[in-house]
Amino acid sequence: MNKEPVSRELFDDVMVPNYAPGSVVPVKGEGSRITDQEGREFVDLAGGIAVTCLGHSHPGLVGALIEQAEKLWHVSNVMTNEPALRLARTLCELTFAERVFFANSGAEANEAAFKLARRYAWEHYGPEKNEIISFTNSFHGRTLFTVAVGGQPKYLEGFEPAPKGIHHAQYNDLESVRALISKERTCAVVVEPIQGEGGVLPADPEFLKGLRQLCDENEALLVFDEVQTGVGRTGHLYAYQMYDVVPDILSSAKGLGGGFPVASMLTTAKIAASFGVGTHGSTYGGNALACAVAQRVIDTVSQPEILKGVAARSERFREGLETIGKKYGIFREVRGAGLLLGCVLADEWKGRARDVLAACLEQEVMVLVAGADVVRLAPSLIIPEADIEEGLARLEAGVKKLCK
Ligand SMILES: *Cc1c(COP(=O)(O)O)cnc(C)c1O
Repeated sequence: MNKEPVSRELFDDVMVPNYAPGSVVPVKGEGSRITDQEGREFVDLAGGIAVTCLGHSHPGLVGALIEQAEKLWHVSNVMTNEPALRLARTLCELTFAERVFFANSGAEANEAAFKLARRYAWEHYGPEKNEIISFTNSFHGRTLFTVAVGGQPKYLEGFEPAPKGIHHAQYNDLESVRALISKERTCAVVVEPIQGEGGVLPADPEFLKGLRQLCDENEALLVFDEVQTGVGRTGHLYAYQMYDVVPDILSSAKGLGGGFPVASMLTTAKIAASFGVGTHGSTYGGNALACAVAQRVIDTVSQPEILKGVAARSERFREGLETIGKKYGIFREVRGAGLLLGCVLADEWKGRARDVLAACLEQEVMVLVAGADVVRLAPSLIIPEADIEEGLARLEAGVKKLCK
């Protein structure tokens, strides 16, 4: 085995430079603590970008992974497998879904969702009904189709020509959707119930209800991208359940595998029928190892006491963050839901979210940003109380230093 020591410096010599990782190289994680190469221990309030929803090395997940690893890893979709069947059944039982498609990442789940929406409209209404409406500042992944649907033009720069027939409306502005939607041309409206990368910006309940109505009136499918908001993140298994607005298609990834790559697209039987044999696929989609881990994640997260715990932890974080925000005049607002929280920087701090992140890292607490003006937290859904307090104390120490 190749055990030669490696360090951050090596990154620039061997990796494609599309990321700019910090100097910290984590080597071990347990619960909401991460240890790096130097032996420094961090409180993890980032959760691998809303992924490690049960913390690191959760015994249940490790157990599920090992148990399946000793049985069967992969067979491809030429055959089905038990973990995939079980997980699909569970997702159907716990959500609006009647059919499930498995993929490996959020972008792939969305790619499947967008393709399915087009195919469904093509089959039922004809080829003219192919337009997709999404929102400025939205994020749906990094494949060419998903960056085109996403509302951040910088991610498309230099990669054109992009897929056509995509229009962007304003988030939380129903009139801007009304101006674009058409019964003849629109096949789908795609929306994040809370814009994650776009600044942890929640949808107004009336906005999502209005989208549902506009979609119904125009025979368009409503697609919820719950890659970030799903799997207990908001204190509900999926955010649509909090908003009480049922989509036609839903994509789930990030938290679904708790750190193991897996994603799913949920839909109804009628819509799923448009993905007939041979229309779409993925070699790894429904991989037995991934599904066994995701099964354990869903079984755990869907327990009422876990979801209630998210609400309680959310309260404590909000309280702590608002206190820090006021004391140092750094946060204008703390927004989001459950354990997807965004601290919006006050005007004097505009554009400095990355500085806050760096200052926090120096105090050994990991946070995220969501754009230049929002510091984002997406910790484990079961982060221990002591780690919440320690994390907030370190975050305050970072802010305090930055204020000097
Ligand atoms: C992260 C994210 C994606 C992309 O997921 P990947 O696994 O990185 O492909 C898509 N949509 C939303 C809302 C996300 O937060």
